[in-house]
Amino acid sequence: MKAITLDTRHFYGGEHHDSFGNKTFQSINPATQEVIATIPEANEQDISAAIDAAKIAFKEWNQIDVITRGHLINLIADAIEEHSEELVNIDVQDAGRPILDATEDIEAVVRMYRYFGGLPDKIEGVTIPFGNEKLVFTKREPYGVIAAITAWNYPLFNNTAKIAPIIATGNACILKPAEETPLVALRLAEIIANVPGIPRGLVSVLNGSGETTGNALVANSNINKITFTGSTQTAKLILNNISNNNVKNCTFELGGKAPVVVFDDANIDGAAKAIAFCAFFNQGQTCTAATRIIVEKGVHDILLEKLKEIASRIVIGDPTNEKTTLGPLVSKAQYDKVNGYLKRAIERSEKMVLGNERTLPTIGYYVCPTIFDNISPSSELFTDEVFGPVLTVTTFEDEKDAIRLANNSEYGLAASVWTKDIDRMHRLASSIKCGIMQCNTIFCEFPGAPAGGYKNSGYGREFGKEAITEYTQIKTVWVSYSDNYLDWV
Ligand code: NDP
Repeated sequence: MKAITLDTRHFYGGEHHDSFGNKTFQSINPATQEVIATIPEANEQDISAAIDAAKIAFKEWNQIDVITRGHLINLIADAIEEHSEELVNIDVQDAGRPILDATEDIEAVVRMYRYFGGLPDKIEGVTIPFGNEKLVFTKREPYGVIAAITAWNYPLFNNTAKIAPIIATGNACILKPAEETPLVALRLAEIIANVPGIPRGLVSVLNGSGETTGNALVANSNINKITFTGSTQTAKLILNNISNNNVKNCTFELGGKAPVVVFDDANIDGAAKAIAFCAFFNQGQTCTAATRIIVEKGVHDILLEKLKEIASRIVIGDPTNEKTTLGPLVSKAQYDKVNGYLKRAIERSEKMVLGNERTLPTIGYYVCPTIFDNISPSSELFTDEVFGPVLTVTTFEDEKDAIRLANNSEYGLAASVWTKDIDRMHRLASSIKCGIMQCNTIFCEFPGAPAGGYKNSGYGREFGKEAITEYTQIKTVWVSYSDNYLDWV
């Protein structure tokens, strides 16, 4: 892999800027444990300067007609295709993502910009029947400057999932990536700023910790909206921060603990392949990862055998190797967190049926694909989002029991049901409380399909035309066409 030679200073107004403060942090390659970059942390002064630049870009962006706006967003997609190798190289080294996975992300990211490039001329209002003398209609207007705070698990994709709809709806974006993966956003913002016609300050990147940069962005009254991808715990901190400072709209894409319900009549081979992929892909660091397998007794043994067999074929190792299918976890902190769950489960004598038997690289934050069987709903492995390559299996008695177990979670992001009984499939699709329901399939994502959570998995939706609702506000316009004015006194 090529060494990363990025300008890591703050990016706003279409160029890099020195920090007003002197705090920095380091980005570490989780496969080699080497420092690959030192990055300045943005403080309130940096944020103010970025907001000033974003406000200018916002004005320019809204003077551009919607057809041109859509065309320019398509040009961003072209530019990303052109720079794909470079972006993949950053993701692999900054996040430890296997090169195969990071390469696949490019396709999804390009598709996202192209989808949202088609949106600007479809942002419509409605006319409201009122009667004679007045015309009443609504317009959808952008918020202005939106702050996007993102998680580290799919750096390029997560950042794109914010930038593309934010700018398609006419807003300017200030992005604060996760500290673990600060680099790809910087390159992405440079690429966007260099697209001829895009106002240079439209997308800014301010790196720094959640505690400093994140907190200050949320509290800033010139940020008109927050869109956040991360943990439920941080979402609560953000809500507290907002309520202490001002009132602003938020979109929250939070954690999950996806149940996968497998009935006796399911295609077990297909279910096993899909579950193993969705549980272990990206080292299990996926908000919709298949982590709670809830299986009918009759097919428990065969499903478990198949899952073990597939998981044992996963190629663990150097993310720069094209054959690798499981790289390191993103950071030492995440490695410690996942190992803490494994250690406590072993101390509680929970039944580990796969894990620990593989030889792992001695350097890097690697964890074996791990399967626990016979896990009780009271176990922390069943309730908590581990965010590592760990899945649990629990059996159910009947359909009612399956629904009860599936809903036994504070989260409600994604779920999956496997059965050939179409009536039962629809009953479960209606009964499981989640924002993304997948029937005889899993790991579904498409820019046109809204995604988001129920319960503690958040509110608001990403993707699809829902993005218009999310990133615009409604203005109701009343127009009188009569001379009948009220003689009040
Ligand atoms: P965190 O909630 O720890 O962090 C997310 C982002 O919030 C980071 O940029 C972080 O900064 C920032 N942050 C932390 N504290 C604050 C604060 N007080 N104010 C403002 N910003 C703050 O989540 P992780 O990064 O650990 O990501 C994993 C989580 O994200 C999982 O729960 C996962 O399920 C969820 N996720 C959800 C997705 C969805 O679409 N529903 C998609 C991807 C992930 P920093 O860490 O740099 O300090």
